Amino acid sequence: MREPITTSIFDIFKIGPGPSSSHTIGPMKAALDFLKSTRALPAEAVSLPAAVDVYLYGSLSLTGEGHGTHKAVLGGLMGWAPDTCDCDQLLALLDPPETVYGIHAGWADIPFTAANIHFEGPDDSLPHPNTLRFRLTAGGAVLLEKEYYSVGGGFIQCKGEAAPAKPALPHPYASMRELRQAVRRTGLSLREIMLQNESAVSGLSRDEIEARIDRLIDTMCAAVETGLKSDGLLPGPIGLMRKAQVLKTNSVKMKHETGRFLACLNAYAQAASEENAAGRKVVTAPTSGAAGVLPGVIYLLKKHFDLSAAQFRDGMLAAAAIAFIAKHNASISGAEVGCQGEVGVASAMAAAFISCAEGLPIRQVENAAEIALEHHLGMTCDPVLGYVQIPCIERNAVGAVTAVNAYILSAAGDPARQKVTFDEVVEAMRETGADMCKRYKETSQGGLALSCVSC
Ligand code: SF4
Repeated sequence: MREPITTSIFDIFKIGPGPSSSHTIGPMKAALDFLKSTRALPAEAVSLPAAVDVYLYGSLSLTGEGHGTHKAVLGGLMGWAPDTCDCDQLLALLDPPETVYGIHAGWADIPFTAANIHFEGPDDSLPHPNTLRFRLTAGGAVLLEKEYYSVGGGFIQCKGEAAPAKPALPHPYASMRELRQAVRRTGLSLREIMLQNESAVSGLSRDEIEARIDRLIDTMCAAVETGLKSDGLLPGPIGLMRKAQVLKTNSVKMKHETGRFLACLNAYAQAASEENAAGRKVVTAPTSGAAGVLPGVIYLLKKHFDLSAAQFRDGMLAAAAIAFIAKHNASISGAEVGCQGEVGVASAMAAAFISCAEGLPIRQVENAAEIALEHHLGMTCDPVLGYVQIPCIERNAVGAVTAVNAYILSAAGDPARQKVTFDEVVEAMRETGADMCKRYKETSQGGLALSCVSC
């Protein structure tokens, strides 16, 4: 067995500001971590006039402005955290760029402006496309420097820092095949295995885990509802108009139930995705760019179907398992494997959510996720002007529809006769991502980002 998965459900599903988990939430967490490190320095070390500089590389540099990376690092340096920060205050940062902020680093108040953020461009010598470096200097000497990698979904790694010790899990697994085997071997449900493992990873009780899952579902639904009530232009130079509200209004006028159903699902997914693009609070699932797919499906089930709270929690646990396996064996980062790892995995999570919530056995939950991901293979990441708007927002709506379709296809099939496994499609995603030209990996240097000349 490969090293078992020890990720917490609450590291996959994170509440934070849009528009990007890797370019907004991850950099904010890195900046906050750096700020804390400066405070561990002896007080006298930073007594001279000091400066903090931030260097953004690769995709963070090429699309950082459209993804709000510059505002996120400043927010983190001011002590803000993704789950508690005020999104409006975050959006207002660095406007105008000459505004001087005070960074309370190393026990000294250090002035900071947009000029302290350096967009350095690509650097092939770095180990990850989403690299950022923080440097604290005083009197010309470097007092502290740290390099971070924002590896997707808001996860960060710090150069030279050992990963925390891995907890021992009651039901270790590293792939869908091993998770299936654990279900068969123990006779436990997927839900039970996920809950017992989560308790071992996070130390939370079952009640605490369920309460936190409920809060995530509420936050997802709140994003949909706020998005449905909002109209007008999204921020940024594209001038993209929100569409979720119109979609919902149009759904009522549709003569056929199928049309109404599809229009509602599109409206819900689009609403949460538009909230993300507007820099509002969303839940990563598995990323912020893909944070409309699962909420769209969840809101549809809440409003149009009669499911219990327990069924919604079961769905979330199945969705988390799918994200774990995709992240562990391939990637959930657009900068690493393209959009197949973001909206593709989100669609697979949503397909697993519906299947598990509807009580299908694990083989059919797997098949639904496999079908959804299979039909996103090869999908590139080419955000126009570096903003998480085109193609991202509509792509979330299409990913949600694909998830429902994958559930329908899976529910009608004999799982024993399914030819492709989820592990196989994850491996195909990994290999396709490795072969994908980096122009199509969140650099805005290829695809629609070049061909869309009207934006
Ligand atoms: S194209 Fe997909 S992966 Fe790229 S920024 Fe948009 S949602 Fe994220």
